[in-house]
Amino acid sequence: MTRQVHGVCPLDCPDTCSWVVTVQDGRAVKLQGNREHPFTRGSLCVKVNHFLEHTQLPDRLLWPLRRAGRKGEGRFARISWDEALGEIAARWRAIIERDGPQAVWPYYGTGTLGMIQGLAGAGRRLWNVLGTSQHHLSICMAAGGFATGYTLGDNRIGMDPEGFAEARLVILWGANPLVTHHHIWKFIEAARRRGAHVVVIDPIRTRTADQADEHVAPRPGTDAALALGLLHVVVARGAEDRDFIEAHTLGWDAFRERILEYPPARVAEITGLPVGRIEELGERLATARPTAIRIGPGMQRHAGGGMAVRTITCIPGVTGDWRHPG
Ligand code: SF4
Repeated sequence: MTRQVHGVCPLDCPDTCSWVVTVQDGRAVKLQGNREHPFTRGSLCVKVNHFLEHTQLPDRLLWPLRRAGRKGEGRFARISWDEALGEIAARWRAIIERDGPQAVWPYYGTGTLGMIQGLAGAGRRLWNVLGTSQHHLSICMAAGGFATGYTLGDNRIGMDPEGFAEARLVILWGANPLVTHHHIWKFIEAARRRGAHVVVIDPIRTRTADQADEHVAPRPGTDAALALGLLHVVVARGAEDRDFIEAHTLGWDAFRERILEYPPARVAEITGLPVGRIEELGERLATARPTAIRIGPGMQRHAGGGMAVRTITCIPGVTGDWRHPG
C-alpha cells in the first residue's frame, strides 16, 4: 500500500519547507518538496535532499546504547528506553538533591529539533519544570535578536520574503541565501526581472555574491560604519522620509547627528571601500523605493555586532521603506 505523508523540514532554517514523503508498505521511499506550498514550490535543498538515505543508513542510531568500554574505544551495548530514561533521571535527581536544580545547566542547539521540540518548545518546558539554571540558549543570534528588538520594538518583526519580488533595490547584507535558504531567491529573481538591482555586501565572495549585480566587500566588522556612510549620502541628498520619521520613529535628531559624523571619506577609511562605491550605493539607497534588506547572522559575531544590526535595521526607518510592500 502506498500513501503520502505531509511534513515540514525540521532544520534550523528560515525557509521552513513543506515536504511530502511517499510511504510504501510502511517504508519511506521518496521525499520531495511540496509543490502546492507557495514558498517551497516543490524543491527542498542540498542539505535535505538525501534525508531519506540518512534515515536508512545501517549505522543510524535507532535505540539507546550504553558505553561498554573506555571512552573512545567505540564499544556500546544496547539498552531499553526505560533503562536509559531511568538512568538519566536517577542521575539528575541525585544532582538536584545534593546541589539543587540550578546545578543542572541545560545547553542544546537547534540542529534538526524544529520549533516544537527545540529552543522554543518542549525542551524549555522541561528545564522550567525542573528549575534548572536559566540562560540564553543561543550563542549564534543573541546580539542581533536584542538589536532588532530594541530597534523595532519586537525582534519577530521583519518583511515577508515574498515581498522581495516588489523591491527596486535588494541588499543582501552578509546573507548568502543561494547556499543557506535558496527559496527566497526566486522572489529576488522576480524583482530583478522587473528591473531591481541586487547588491551583496559581504567580505567574502559567496555564491550569492557571484550571482548578484554588485558585490561590495567591506572589511569584516565594519558594517555599522558602512550603514552610517550610506545614510550620510541619503541625508546629504535630503532623501530621508521626514513624514515617516516624524510619525513612526524616536530619536531622529541624535541619530542624524551620528550619521553626519560618518561622511563617505571617513567610512572609506574604516571599511576599506573606495569612496565612489559608498556614494554610488548611497545614491541607489536614496532613490530606489522600495529597498529590501536582508541581514545575515555573521556580522553580529564581531565586537559591536549588535550595534551593526541596530544601525542597518534603522535604514528603512530613515528611508520610509516600511511604508511600501517590498
Ligand atoms: S531550505 Fe533546506 S534546510 Fe531550509 S527548510 Fe527548506 S529543505 Fe529545510
